[in-house]
Amino acid sequence: VLQKIMKAEKLEIVSHLAASISHEVRNPLTVSKGFIQLSCDEKVDPAVRKGYLNTAIHELDRAADIINDYLMFAKPAFEKEEKISIYEEIQHVVNVVIPLAKMNGVQVHLSLPNEEKGFALGERKKLEQSFINILKNGIESMPNGGHLHISLGYQHHSIHIHICDEGSGMTQEQLNRLGEPYFTTKKQGTGLGMMVSFSIIQSMKGEINVTSEEGKGTCFYIKLPCQ
Ligand code: ADP
Ligand code: MG
Repeated sequence: VLQKIMKAEKLEIVSHLAASISHEVRNPLTVSKGFIQLSCDEKVDPAVRKGYLNTAIHELDRAADIINDYLMFAKPAFEKEEKISIYEEIQHVVNVVIPLAKMNGVQVHLSLPNEEKGFALGERKKLEQSFINILKNGIESMPNGGHLHISLGYQHHSIHIHICDEGSGMTQEQLNRLGEPYFTTKKQGTGLGMMVSFSIIQSMKGEINVTSEEGKGTCFYIKLPCQ
């Protein structure tokens, strides 16, 4: 039985990665283009052509995943810091991932406090990205369905967000590597989602802890300072 709390403190690398990421996206695009060009040849057998096009689509999906997990955050334009209502934001990001949850047969449970209070200071889009990456992983860890629990609470001068799944969980080794760039156990993973989530929470002077048990599930505990 493995369960350990991990603190996300390994993230100085982000700016550095911004350069290599364009390379990451260009790769699948180039491959995709190649297969589309091949399938333009009139002499190509229809079954073979179908295979080419499937590969092209697959590669385009991969490019889209990289952009979704990472590029939104890497966007150099400086976004203004603002007071973010976590109460509203949580409901928004949950709505964003509902279609993915449905596709996986996952039921999403959101537990909110009675009143809206406590605002975090930061860049809204980035915080959304951070939550979405965590929610997506939770859902993806339950390909055969299950429950995803999200709760929001206030304590002293902080906001607490808990995101728990009943999915595959992680080994101690995987948990240790969580947040490391390009660490992924998925066939189509980018291995960028957690790095991005952790850096964003960290940039807001928040904290993120993760517990995980193989075969049982994973919980993310996020704490953000509030206004
Ligand atoms: P990706 O999702 O593209 O693989 P991430 O950075 O989002 O990249 O996650 C890295 C890895 O961490 C995943 O491949 C998975 O092995 C593990 N992981 C993250 N979240 C969870 C979770 N909720 N349950 C199980 N494993 C997880
Ligand atoms: Mg992910």
